[in-house]
Amino acid sequence: MNIIDIIEKKKKGGKLNKEEIDFFVKGATKASIPDYQLAALLMAICLKGMNDEETYQLTSAMKNSGQVLDLSFAGGTTVDKHSTGGVSDTVTPVLISVLAANGLKVVKMSGRGLSHTGGTIDKLESIKNFNTSLTKEQIINAVKQCGAAITAQTADIAPADKALYALRDVTGTVDSIPLIASSIMSKKLSSGADIIMLDVKYGSGAFMKNAQDAVKLARSMVKIAVKDGKKCAALVTSMQQPLTRYAGCNVEMNSALSVLNGEKNDLYIVAKELCATIFMLANKTDSLILGRKLFDDTIYSGDALEKFKQIITCQGGESEVLKTGFKTARYQKTLYADKSGYIEKIDSAAVGKTVLKLGGGRERKGDRIDHAAGIELNIRLNDYVNKGDIVATLYASKESKFTEAEEIIKNCYSLSHAPVIADKLIYAAVTKKGVQYL
Ligand code: URA
Repeated sequence: MNIIDIIEKKKKGGKLNKEEIDFFVKGATKASIPDYQLAALLMAICLKGMNDEETYQLTSAMKNSGQVLDLSFAGGTTVDKHSTGGVSDTVTPVLISVLAANGLKVVKMSGRGLSHTGGTIDKLESIKNFNTSLTKEQIINAVKQCGAAITAQTADIAPADKALYALRDVTGTVDSIPLIASSIMSKKLSSGADIIMLDVKYGSGAFMKNAQDAVKLARSMVKIAVKDGKKCAALVTSMQQPLTRYAGCNVEMNSALSVLNGEKNDLYIVAKELCATIFMLANKTDSLILGRKLFDDTIYSGDALEKFKQIITCQGGESEVLKTGFKTARYQKTLYADKSGYIEKIDSAAVGKTVLKLGGGRERKGDRIDHAAGIELNIRLNDYVNKGDIVATLYASKESKFTEAEEIIKNCYSLSHAPVIADKLIYAAVTKKGVQYL
């Protein structure tokens, strides 16, 4: 087989067969095909697309390029959840606590933040001594002891994706639905859970800028999982504004704690709908209504918070912080509105970039981040602000960090004379039966 023939075939819009896709993925994993040829094929896929069968074969080949976890030790239904990434998305600590408190076994492999999006692993490392690099034995122990394990992805999970993603990042080939779907799902299928719940974000802070493309991505990912024998569903949710008022590790962890203590906000709503859908997939409840009630009960009984404490302890973390809260950085700066009006737009990506400038994010893989840096936004879409009202408070460990951050955040929102029609927080639910617009 010859990679040039495969590139030519895709360039003309042809359909690649399993053998051709396997050849390409093996070449990427073993570095036996040079980067320029891999990149040429990635660009051809970007431009000509892939049908469902090709996308599945690509996912399957990438999954099989590394280790596939066997979670049968868990002795119960195993669950994984994935968000396609956004700003102020701290659903995971809430979700895993509620699910584990109800007897489901959660094995969650999460990522670190890069550029303007935050990463769950970074946020959990706000907890002193919390081990986010669990060995296989430690995962087994954590799941057996407290029903959940949350850890950074290991290098042996889908190494083909690692190689291809690094190339896509520098060749303008990230924004392709088959490439995104296969990249995400190869890792999720390798993680071995019976149920995969997806939260596909759309809007300014997300990969998918509009809801229709997010639905297409969600459909593609659900189809892949179902074909691989998994139970899977997706919610398509808005990133038209950050999910909560907080962005940055410590302030977001405080926000997740508030939800675990019963505060109802958009984070609560998204976490509740994801959990209710998982309860249905796991046959824990007969309807979404009962699933939502189970979520509320688990929060208000204090069981979810207690479970989160256990999860922290199981992974070596110090749970006192659940009482004291997470500290913000030494310096703070308050910003005020310079005119009055309704908030018509909040650029989530700009909010994420502000965190980066404050020291709370990472420009390059491996950069150290400041967990205490972050931002508290005082505005939500359609709020009315008067000139002089507080718009945001910035936190940083060095005063010099405020200069650039302030410039970005001042321009991250715009005002109008009348309220706007905001996107729906939960736009659609996608299951193997199809799409339901909510
Ligand atoms: N996240 C991934 O893991 N892969 C993509 O291609 C995009 C987002």
